Amino acid sequence: MIVILKENAAVQAVQSLVDNFKSIGFDVHISQGSTHTILGLIGDTGKLDIDQIKMLEWVDDVKRIQEPFKNANRKFHPQDTVIKVKDAVIGGGSMTVIAGPCSVESEEQIITVARSVKASGAKLLRGGAFKPRTSPYAFQGLRDEGIRLLLEAKKDTGLPIVTEIMDLSQLELFNDVDVIQVGARNMQNFELLKQLGHTNKPILLKRGLANTYQELLMSAEYIMAFGNENVILCERGVRTFETYTRNTLDISAVPALKILSHLPVIVDPSHAAGMAKFVAPLSLSAVAAGADGLIIEVHNNPACAKCDGMQSLTMPDFDTLMKKINIMKEAQVACNSL
Ligand code: PEP
Ligand code: MN
Repeated sequence: MIVILKENAAVQAVQSLVDNFKSIGFDVHISQGSTHTILGLIGDTGKLDIDQIKMLEWVDDVKRIQEPFKNANRKFHPQDTVIKVKDAVIGGGSMTVIAGPCSVESEEQIITVARSVKASGAKLLRGGAFKPRTSPYAFQGLRDEGIRLLLEAKKDTGLPIVTEIMDLSQLELFNDVDVIQVGARNMQNFELLKQLGHTNKPILLKRGLANTYQELLMSAEYIMAFGNENVILCERGVRTFETYTRNTLDISAVPALKILSHLPVIVDPSHAAGMAKFVAPLSLSAVAAGADGLIIEVHNNPACAKCDGMQSLTMPDFDTLMKKINIMKEAQVACNSL
């Protein structure tokens, strides 16, 4: 349920309403707009009498929220959430590019790629240390050593790092990681999500292989319900009947998630396509659709990559793509202002 307060409600009035709702057992989410404050009540609101609440001083309107996600709901929090990671901002109409190899393979590899993507305009470095592979015989990632090498690359370039966690037992290794990625295969690992809710790290939450928008938002809700509001949603393609591409990029996810939620939405064209030649057109369509960022796989030698070489851009191709992304972003902003 949301309680919309009258324009310019005084701080004490807001606080006394919040205290009242808390005293009868609700969690209260406060969203401070430029003129109106909105209180989001979380709990069993079925027993509340809307008309009685409407009669309270300073209350302008009361609405029930049908969707099961509350903290992630735009109705609770009308303005876009903007997440700051060092100097990078994600959300609110940003176009922040995260780039790097699928997996960290060696110090030379990660530093070479990090320097190159930074020079091309990427604001964060990606690289998998713990890899969720379909085959137990495939390269599983350098694990602890992979995190150490990412931290070396961060020291060298100043780029904040994004890397995937696969299990709670790995959490203590992520102390100096800037953004923790929850991969598609772990989107509904609820125990992991709850624990990440107790951290204050930005979480890049990928949509599962065959999950709906609501399921993705409910997973975000798990993290937010435990106190961490820094969630970045990522569309990375879903399973469909098409087998030509690795997955099918669901471009509708961008506007749909932005209507449903205030959280930043980014797109991963690399895992959606599975082929490098599709990464540029999918990236540009994501920018045109209003994504707040992209996460793109880039390798110094894709033909020899230990994981996902087929979909990885070369460093020069990434550089060219960044120029196109900037042009497309300007066009998107111009379209939006019409
Ligand atoms: C990845 O980013 O390397 C990855 C494994 O992605 P996803 O979880 O989207 O498959
Ligand atoms: Mn990959």
